[in-house]
Amino acid sequence: MNCLEERIVKDGVVKEGNILKVDSFLNHQLDVELFDEMGKEWARRFEGVEINKILTIEASGIGIACVAARHFNAPVVFAKKSHSINLDGEMYTAEVESFTHKNKNMVIVSKKFLNENDKILIIDDFLANGCALQGLISIINQAGATVSGIGIAIEKGFQNGGQIIRNMGYRLESLAIVDEMDAKSGNIIFRK
Ligand code: 5GP
Repeated sequence: MNCLEERIVKDGVVKEGNILKVDSFLNHQLDVELFDEMGKEWARRFEGVEINKILTIEASGIGIACVAARHFNAPVVFAKKSHSINLDGEMYTAEVESFTHKNKNMVIVSKKFLNENDKILIIDDFLANGCALQGLISIINQAGATVSGIGIAIEKGFQNGGQIIRNMGYRLESLAIVDEMDAKSGNIIFRK
């Protein structure tokens, strides 16, 4: 078991509705030492891959991406969630359905911060159905930039996002893949 899996077993709470709560180290209180280990591991897995920028989505991805960025020597851009429909032409936009809140958000990135020369590593906290990732990939495509890879902290392998993204041909590196979890017993089974 790696250190993220150990921490999930120790402090994660399985909720009804396929939600894993990891507020005490990933989503509310942030364990920066753990983020640093995660960044180191992504850097190891993506060694030799050309990456000059990290893209994530607010809010939970930002802290993880910033610490990971120290291992890639790259700036972080985060997609902002916007309720405004009066977006000018200066933004790349995508619609993303939130798994946890069940609502749709427009996510936006200023055209100033992505361009066709960028080789991008996407980082996010969770992968469930893959909506957030597909929104970020769409924004990268709009910019004519390249997706160099995708780093996810926790993939819920029993939902279909991972399969969709891998079938699209992207290199997806999830540090913990939960194949089964049970709200009643609290049991969590990781992919080997
Ligand atoms: P997706 O777009 O892949 O369906 O869902 C990914 C997003 O939903 C992540 O950015 C994360 O914020 C949130 N999310 C999905 N599943 C979980 C979960 O089990 N626990 C938590 N804390 N967030 C989740």
